[in-house]
Amino acid sequence: MSQPKPQEPMTGNAPPAPADAMKDIVALCKRRGFVFPASEIYGGINGFWDFGPLGVELKNNLRDLWWKHMVTTPPVGPDGAPVQIVGIDSAIIQNPKAWVASGHVGGFSDPMVDCRETKFRYRQDHLIVLKADAHNWIAFHQEASTDDIDRKLKKLGLPVRKTEYERVPLTQVPVSEYSNITGPDAKTKGTLTEPKQFNLMFDSHAGPIKDDANKVYLRPETAQGIFLNFKNVLDSTRVRVPFGIAQIGKAFRNEVTPRNFIFRSREFEQMEMEWFCHGDDAKKWRDFWFSERTKFWQSIGLKSDNLRVRDHDKDELSHYAKEGLGTADIEYRFPFTAPDFGELEGIAHRCDFDLTQHQEHSKQKLEYMDPDDNTKRYIPHVIEPAAGLTRGVLALICEAYTPDPNRPSGVFLDFHPSVAPKKAAILPLMSKGEHPEIATKLYMKVREHYNIDLDVKQNIGKRYARQDEIGTPFCFTIDDQTSADHTVTVRHRNTMKQDRIHLDSVIEYMRTNMNTATGRS
Ligand code: ATP
Repeated sequence: MSQPKPQEPMTGNAPPAPADAMKDIVALCKRRGFVFPASEIYGGINGFWDFGPLGVELKNNLRDLWWKHMVTTPPVGPDGAPVQIVGIDSAIIQNPKAWVASGHVGGFSDPMVDCRETKFRYRQDHLIVLKADAHNWIAFHQEASTDDIDRKLKKLGLPVRKTEYERVPLTQVPVSEYSNITGPDAKTKGTLTEPKQFNLMFDSHAGPIKDDANKVYLRPETAQGIFLNFKNVLDSTRVRVPFGIAQIGKAFRNEVTPRNFIFRSREFEQMEMEWFCHGDDAKKWRDFWFSERTKFWQSIGLKSDNLRVRDHDKDELSHYAKEGLGTADIEYRFPFTAPDFGELEGIAHRCDFDLTQHQEHSKQKLEYMDPDDNTKRYIPHVIEPAAGLTRGVLALICEAYTPDPNRPSGVFLDFHPSVAPKKAAILPLMSKGEHPEIATKLYMKVREHYNIDLDVKQNIGKRYARQDEIGTPFCFTIDDQTSADHTVTVRHRNTMKQDRIHLDSVIEYMRTNMNTATGRS
C-alpha cells in the first residue's frame, strides 16, 4: 500500500475514532472477551491473536453475512439475473508446486530494509518518508497517526508541522539518498540498509523427514485453493462462465512488523471470491463487484466518512494486475491510520494469470469450453474481491466504538444489529423468585430465533453497562409489573430509551426494530 490519494469519502456522519481510542478499544476487547493476545500466559506471541466468546460471535456473524451475500443469496447481475457463485473449503497446505506456479515461492517476497541502529526490520513498501528539509527526512510506518509523527518530530528537535511536510513512499526514494533518512524507531540518520528480499510464507515439512523434498507452505492467501479447484468445480457442478467460487479461511504471512492489533497479524482470515468471466467482460464485472462490495460493507454498518474507495497507483500493482484494469481498494479510516485510510478489501483484475500459470506448471488443461460452441476455448479472466475477515472485525469494532460520558460504562458499541454478537439481553431485576423464572422462560423462547444473553445477577445498572460495552441492541427487563400484567421493559442501546411491551411480542418487537436499532444506519 502506498500513500492514499485524497478522494471523496462516502457520505455519513460518524467522526473517526481518535487515535488514542485504540488503547481503549484494545482494552475493551480484552475486558469483554472479544480478542485476547495468543499464548498470553506465556507472554504472548507477536502477530497472533485469539478470539474470545464475543469475538468469535462477531467474526462468525461477519463471515456468515459475507457467505450469504456471495454464495447463498448472491446479488442480481447487470442483466437482471442472479449471479452464480459456489463455495469451497480447500486445504491450507497444498502441493508446493502450486506456490511456485502462483509466483509466491519466487515472488511473494517483499523488499525489506533493516535499521542498523535499532536492529528492527521494515517492509520497504510500508514506510513513508517525510521531508522536513533538504537533508532531514524521517521514515514512518504508513499506518502511523499524525500524533505519532508529531511526537517523533518533537523528539528529533524538528518543527511540528502536522501534515504540511512533503511525504513520499520509501519505494520512491533512491537508495543513494537513504543517508538523509532517520528510521521509524531510530535516533540518528542514515541507519536504514538497502532493501533485501524476504519471503513472507511460513514453511514446514510434511511427513517425518525434514528435507527440501518434503517442504510445504502454509497458504498465504485463500485464492490459490480456488484456482486449483477450477476444473473440479466445472466438472462437478452446472456453473457456466461467468461464475464465481468463494472461500473463507485462514491465511498465514510471516509479516515483518505485525502491528495495530488484529489489523496486520501473521495468522488471519480472508474472505475471497474469484469471479471467472470472458476477458472482454472484465471491465463490466470489475465495476459490478466494486459497487456490490462497497454496498456490502455499508449494509453492515460501515456507513460513515470512515469508508472510501481508492484506485491503486501504477507502482502498487501486483505482477498479475500489470496488464489488466488494475486494483482498487475499499479502505477504512482506522484510528491508527487517521487521517489516512488502511486497506479493508482489494478488488483486483487478475487477468488470466493464475489459471494460465497452473495450466503450464501442472500440464493440465484449464481452458473453458463455451457450451454453445465447442470450438471456442479460452482461459477466463478473473475479478477478485479479496477481503480480510479479521481486519473486517476490527473495522466493525472501531466504527462501533462510541464514547459517551452520559452513561456509566462511558462508552458503548454501536454495532449494526446484524453483526452484534448478542442481539438482546434478558435481565430479571431480582436474582431470586419469580423474576428469574419468567426471564429463563423468555430466554428459552427467544434464543430459538436470536443469539441472546440471560444475565441474572448484579445490580441492573452494571448489567446495562456491560450490555452497552458489548453492543447489545436491546435489553428486556423483568420486574414486579411483569408478574402482574405480563409486560417487560425494553431498553434501547443507543438512546437508552425504555418502552413497555407484552412478553409475547418480544420476538416480533426485535424483528421490527432490528434495523432501526442503530444510530448510524
Ligand atoms: P496489505 O497491503 O495490507 O499488506 P495486501 O494488499 O497484501 O494487504 P491482499 O493480499 O489483497 O492484501 O489480501 C486481501 C485482504 O486480506 C486485505 O485487504 C486485508 O484485509 C487482509 N490481510 C492481508 N494481510 C493481512 C494481515 N497480515 N493481517 C490481517 N489481514 C490481512
